[in-house]
Order: sequence, then structure tokens, then C-alpha cells
Amino acid sequence: MSHTSTPLPHADGPARAQCPYCGVGCGLEMKPPTAAAAGSEALWTARGDRHHPSSLGQVCVKGATVGETLDRNRLTTPLYRQRTDQPFAPISWDLAFDLLEAQVRRTVAEQGPAGLAMYGSGQFQTEDYYVANKLIKGALGSNNFDANSRLCMSSAVSGYVRSFGSDGPPCCYDDLDQADTVLLIGTNTAECHPVLFQRLLKRKRKQKQAVQIVVVDPRATATSDAADLHLAIRPGTDLALLHGLGHLLLERGGVDRAYVQASTEGFDALKELWAGWTPERVSRFCGIKQQQLRQLAARWAESRAVLSLWSMGVNQSVEGTATVAGIINLHLVSGQIGRPGAGPFSLTGQPNAMGGREAGGLARLLPGYRNVTDAGHRAELEHHWGLAPGAIAPESGLTVWEQIEAMERDELGLWWVAATNPLVSLPWLDRVRAAVARCPMVVLNEAYAGTETAAVAHLVLPAMQWSEKAGVMTNSERRVTYCPAFRAAPGEARPDWAIFAELGRRLGFEEQFRYGSSAEVFAEFVAITAGRVCDLSGLSHGLLQEHGPQQWPFPPGTAPGEGAPRLYTSGRFPTASGRARLISEQPMGLGEPPDRDYPLVLTVGRYLEQWHTMTRTAHVERLMRPHPEPLLEVNPADAQEHGLIDGARAEVISRRGAVTATVQITDRIRQGTVFLPMHWGAAQEQACEANRLMHELACPISQQPELKAAAVTLKPIAAPSMRTLSHAGDHPVLRSESKS
Ligand code: SF4
Repeated sequence: MSHTSTPLPHADGPARAQCPYCGVGCGLEMKPPTAAAAGSEALWTARGDRHHPSSLGQVCVKGATVGETLDRNRLTTPLYRQRTDQPFAPISWDLAFDLLEAQVRRTVAEQGPAGLAMYGSGQFQTEDYYVANKLIKGALGSNNFDANSRLCMSSAVSGYVRSFGSDGPPCCYDDLDQADTVLLIGTNTAECHPVLFQRLLKRKRKQKQAVQIVVVDPRATATSDAADLHLAIRPGTDLALLHGLGHLLLERGGVDRAYVQASTEGFDALKELWAGWTPERVSRFCGIKQQQLRQLAARWAESRAVLSLWSMGVNQSVEGTATVAGIINLHLVSGQIGRPGAGPFSLTGQPNAMGGREAGGLARLLPGYRNVTDAGHRAELEHHWGLAPGAIAPESGLTVWEQIEAMERDELGLWWVAATNPLVSLPWLDRVRAAVARCPMVVLNEAYAGTETAAVAHLVLPAMQWSEKAGVMTNSERRVTYCPAFRAAPGEARPDWAIFAELGRRLGFEEQFRYGSSAEVFAEFVAITAGRVCDLSGLSHGLLQEHGPQQWPFPPGTAPGEGAPRLYTSGRFPTASGRARLISEQPMGLGEPPDRDYPLVLTVGRYLEQWHTMTRTAHVERLMRPHPEPLLEVNPADAQEHGLIDGARAEVISRRGAVTATVQITDRIRQGTVFLPMHWGAAQEQACEANRLMHELACPISQQPELKAAAVTLKPIAAPSMRTLSHAGDHPVLRSESKS
């Protein structure tokens, strides 16, 4: 069996694929290395693909340097150790599968299928996601398959499902060119989705008055620098702000009564809720001026087309789903949806988080936007997969945090992690490490050597990555791109889907996992999406190769390029009544508000050049140069209060642990809030595990942890660094301190 499609002959020109970093999903053209000078690396080079409809030739620094990450620091052979205090030894694939199979059989015999759990990734291609779900939820009967999308956009999923009756972002990137107001809430788009932001900025530069940009973020960022209006609210007050905006829309006559009547339900309750969120109350609650809220309301009410974009600042919250509903409510009530330039648009973090949702990649999902708790949905999948009725368990599986808690109770016999690095990205890392240490077997599918998760694993399986295996990814605007295998994989690396399929066959599911290629996997997957909101059933690897990326819905008979750019254009929704639901929920605030002992709110985020836990980007000098170390951003007043000096080291302490970082005093962050980047895990030279400090409390609906906020305090560290000595004199606060 071939694990890859035939690599493109170089004579045919560059290979075209979707960038494997973020959910913008830009098109890349990859050119093969030319003869390298002696002693230098032969590298594939990337540039923007002008033919890709999502990015039109644009690319950011990460995408442009992806060629430098492909060969460095790769795993080439399976590795095993019996105990995690032993060194790894290389083993054969055959032995690796024997070990894995034995542990699956032992666990099922002793603990039942619920003793198995997998934690996958938005780095998967859709084929990987699909086969993993078929193996775990179908063949093995455990719904304990979750993915790192849980940390990224599960609140957006729950929000869409509750309001519209189905997941699926209703907008497209062209809306950035059509909107006259763009609200960016809880998203530092300039650094996290840079190519989209550049598209907006380009339009703003050309037609200054045609589009107004409004940013809601406690921190001044490269995104807010471009804003006409920046609302630097207190962390955790987004929902109150949205309700206050609704209050003023009612007052100003900004309601589309015809749309509300024809296409929504629940307006009376929402009106009542909004009535209580007066501008005075919102101003106090959110820590902004009333005038700013009124400005935003006026802008919204007068706009022809309002587009709201959000990402982790909204989703990673104990009220993430409620806040998503708060955004959607405003669009529904003002009729700002289902037409060019208008709608609530979540931006996904991972390159194929969207594909994961389509393929059932969360603990309560099944492929084709189906649910494990729906008997009809289970029966459809059991039939499609050739499994006995009742093979799929009827309960939601364990989310990733529930998997950690299950390990604490010794309820998991196998924790299988694939294409992700939870030992950096999960909250409360000390607790995670202790829990994982109790699990009898931790398996990791990974492309790169030496990750923090490998440090807790028993069995490490070398995985092919993007560029080495053929498959598809879906970006934030529902556009599906075929990504070819265009270079050879190192050593014995295999595609994730092929690893899952091999284990499935060894466990006796010969028929179910007899795939000759990823094209066959994709064909099986899209067939089960027919008639669903995410209908991809007209797509195939062949069509995508021939005609390029396509947006879904794409049922059979759709002409290439004719997939729907927008959903819900008719004002009908996939709910029982055909109407969207307006949802009325009071704000709850932060899961862990600041108090006397921990008076500050720590928020975390990204640097433009870094990707998640740095497994790839830490090996590219050009990406490391702008931020060689993580900096703790502190407002001057808080720095003075805590005796901190710019450029010196400080300890950041929460109820769960402490980390140290170099202080950057800046008035770009509001008083009472501090910021750390989330990238630097324990394996990095400048380790600063921000998520060690974060709590595990999560949105009760989406189960997405509140990774954006935890209560902390700060302590100066006595010994000044070299940077302190050279920078201290530059800062006004520091100058006065150094004189005293
Ligand atoms: S914006 Fe995202 S998808 Fe586009 S090149 Fe940059 S990292 Fe890749």
C-alpha cells in the first residue's frame, strides 16, 4: 500500500498546497531545492499562490519560511521505553504495532472501551481525522476522541449550533472587502491571522472612509493600532459589552423587525435582557467610556454591512459559548447576516480545525456534523462503516480535560496523542504532568523530536507531515484545498491515517480499514456528508487537484467555483422551526477573578512569528529573531505597585504555580492585566510555561477551558539581567525608581 500520492514531477512547476500553519489557509507554491552550496541545507522555498482564492498570492512570514522547517529535527523511527525515566530505544514498526495492539486489547478487557482515549489535532488532514474517529468511536466503541480544537474553537462550534441549529461559519473572506464596519473582538488578527488582516488593512488604506475598524481587546496590539475605535475592556467583560450594544441598538432603532419576525425566535426575552444593560452599567462593568459604546452602536446601526470576527479571546472563556451567542444575537436582530459583508465569522486557529469539525473530531461529534448522542446519527455511521448496530457508544466521550481527570482516577489504560503538544498547551500543566504519569501507556504520533509531550510518552511513532502525505484541509471560510505529497518523508515516517488504519486491521477490522490511498479515505468520508450542512459529497481528490480549492456546501453536480460563499442567505436555518434562536444569558465574568492575593489578570496570546508550541518555528532563525524570549507585558502603574523594573526578571505566580520572565513595561496593556506569550514550553531554552499558571475552569457548554485569563501576582527577582542594565535608563518609571 502506498502512503503517499505520486510526488509532483518538478518539471510540472511548483507544488500547490494550503499553508500548514493557521486557519486562514493561504495557498502556497512550493519550489524544490536547487543544488545547495557545499555545507548548506537544500531547502524547499515557499511563496504565495496567486491562484488560491482565499489568499490571492499573499503569505506571512511563517508561511514564507515553512520550507526551512520540513527536514529539521525530525523523528525517523518508532521509539519505545517501558518507563518514562528510561531513555528511548528505536524499535521496528512491527513491534510498535504489537505493543499498541496488546495495550488496546488489555485495556478493553480490563476497563472496557472507555479506558481508551485519543487526543488529536487541527494539524491533521481530514483523512487522518476521519480514520481516527472511525477507529476510536466506531471500531473500538469509545467516544473518547477529542482534539486540540477543544482549546481553540469549540465555543464557536457550540455557539453556531445553539443559534443556527448547526455548526458552520456563515461568512467568507470576500466579506472583508464588502463590509463597511469590521468588529474584531477577542482577536489579535494582525498577529494571529496576518494575511486576512493585511487584506483588510489594504482596503482601509485605499478607501479610508469606506470601512471602519473597531477592536475590542484589553491590550493594545498591532490590530488595535489600525482601529478607528479601540475598546480596551476589562478581561472577561465581552458579553456585557455586547448586551450594552444591543441595548443601544434597540434605543436607536437599529433592529430589523422584518428579519427578526421572519427568521428568529426569542426576541422578547432578549429585549428584556438588553434593557438591563444600560450604557452606564456597561461602562462601569467593562471599564470603558460610555461615549465609546455609543460610538460603536451608532456605527453599527448606520452600517450597510457589519462583519464581526473573533477567535480565542472570545472562545477561551468560561462564557465562551454565551459570548458567541451575544455576537450572533446582534447580527440576527439587525439583519446583518446572509448577505455580502455581513455576518458573525469565527476565525479558526489551526489549519484544518474546520476539517476536524466536518470529520467529527470532538468528543461529542460524528462525521458530517453529527452527534454521538443522536441514535439516528449513530445508526447512519454504523451502517456506513459496516459495523453492528450499537457499535458506537451513545454517550459523549471525554473532552481532553476530562481525559486528564480520568487519568488521575486511573481510568485510562491508553492515552494516544497525535500531532499536538498538550504538555505545553493545556492549562495547569503541573496537574497534567502528574495525571499523565499515572497512565500505563502514553503513545505519541509526532513529526518532530524532543517535544514536551514526548517527555511523558512510552511509545513515539514517527508521523509524516504536510508535504509528505496527500490529503485535504478546510480553512476558516469553508474552503477545501488538496495538499499533495511533494517530497519524500524522512526515515520510516508514516501518515497518521495509515497508522490508525493498520491498527484497525490488526484488531480484526480488515474490511473497515482496507484503504489503498488517502483518496479512498476521502471518498468514503465525503459520501457520508451528503445532504448535511457541510455537504462535501461532490468533492474528490481528483476534482480538487484539477480545479483547485472549493468551498462547501458542494453537493454532486456543483460546478467548480460554485460552492456557496455564504450560508443562510435565505433567512432559513437548520433548526426545528427554521428560525435562528436568539439566546439570552447574563454575563458570569471570569472563572477566576482577581482578588487581594492575586490582584492581576494574566492573559496569554501569540507572537506573529511563532506557531503554537514552537515545534517547527523554534528552528527557523528568522522567526526567532524578533522575539528571542517571551516578555511579560506590565502596565507602568502595576510595575510600580509590584516593584518591577523594565528588562529585569519577575516571577508570575498563580494558585497553580509560578514562571519567570523578563519584564516589559508598557502602557499598551491596561492596568490590572498582564500578558505572556503562550509558546515557550519546558523544552525551550527560555522556558516560560504560561499555561502552568492557568486554571482548568471551562465553558459549561463547549467545555473549552478559559485559557485567556487567570488571577496572578508578580514578584521582582533580585538579580538584574544584562538586559536590565542596558535598558533600565530608557523608561520614565524606571528612571525615577533608579534615582530613589
Ligand atoms: S496567514 Fe496563516 S495560513 Fe497564511 S501564510 Fe500565514 S500562517 Fe500560513
